[in-house]
Amino acid sequence: MLRTSIQVGKLIGIPIRLHFTFLFILLGIILGFANGPTTEYRIPLGLGGIEMDSFLRYSLSSIAAVLFFFTLLLHEMSHSYVAMKFGTKIHSITLFFFGGLAMMEDIPKDPGKEWRIAIAGPLMSFAIGGIFLLTYFGIKTLNLVIYDPVAILVFILGFFNVILACFNLLPAFPMDGGRVLRAFLAKKMSFLKATKRAVLIGKIFAVIMVIAGIIADPVRFILTGELGSNLFTPLLAIFLYIAATEEESATITFATLEGIRVKNVMRTERTSVLEDMPIAELASKMLEEKTAEYAVVSENGELKGFVTFDEIKKLPAEQRHFLRVFDVISPFDSIGDIILKEEEAVEALKRMIRNKRIALAVKEEVDGDFVGIITKRDLATYMEMLKGSA
Ligand SMILES: [Zn+2]
Repeated sequence: MLRTSIQVGKLIGIPIRLHFTFLFILLGIILGFANGPTTEYRIPLGLGGIEMDSFLRYSLSSIAAVLFFFTLLLHEMSHSYVAMKFGTKIHSITLFFFGGLAMMEDIPKDPGKEWRIAIAGPLMSFAIGGIFLLTYFGIKTLNLVIYDPVAILVFILGFFNVILACFNLLPAFPMDGGRVLRAFLAKKMSFLKATKRAVLIGKIFAVIMVIAGIIADPVRFILTGELGSNLFTPLLAIFLYIAATEEESATITFATLEGIRVKNVMRTERTSVLEDMPIAELASKMLEEKTAEYAVVSENGELKGFVTFDEIKKLPAEQRHFLRVFDVISPFDSIGDIILKEEEAVEALKRMIRNKRIALAVKEEVDGDFVGIITKRDLATYMEMLKGSA
């Protein structure tokens, strides 16, 4: 999903990326600011009720939308900044449809660090929201002569940042509040148990949100002062419910593999094929050896890449007779496709996910020999067996 994003710049050494869905949200925000209701609700949500030149209307709305983008970025930057202080490497920050996402190397499992990283974002949003709202009320009380649409946009930016902070503090994954909750639980129990408990609380919360959305929705109350239903909250709750379930299974995977090393899972037989082997021959070898992934090596033992059953099954039968392995392999990345025997199995899984690979070559040491391969399939089977024997 994150591949369809472009880098737009760098801040304190962190690449900032924009996902294409973010452009839709930016456009939506500009239109919302320009045409949203001004007086229909208790608070203004846009400039729709104000008579003004459309060029000015869209210019001001665009400036406000870009400012909103910066406040989202500052939220993510705060998470990243605190994480960097704890020595975590930040790959990038991507802004997409739902907001922002900081891609971190390894979120520390130390609860004391996790909650500080998680809380930094909402605190930043509260601070930004507070500054904008204070500015707005300052303008109002001092009765400064200021162009009305500007004051409205200042209010909206403040209001949205406070809402963003509150929303992020919901005690459900993947919201920051879910992480804070897990960190506090993890002080008293294992990380796995704390995750399960936090996921359960998040799910209960999601159910409460669905009921609240139907009976007495808080968003509706803020806007209109009336109690009643609103569809937005239940939809959000369903999203939170699904996200919580995903977080749970990811954590279970990582917790199951804790302490397991690459050497425990790697395969040392049926590991490689020669690059000039005909595809037809490889297909029968796979069947015979019941193996779906091989490393590909040259005549002198040099690693060239990987070949998998999924790749060759796509080839029409007539092509299998004249194509050879080197015609179909994915190019070998001499850093990303290698893992050392003594490294953690979790690290192998992460590297596969990050590089979209289903296998890695295992080496004894950095400049050492190729000793085996580790595949997603082997890891999955191994985890099943670990769970079964626990
Ligand atoms: Zn956050």
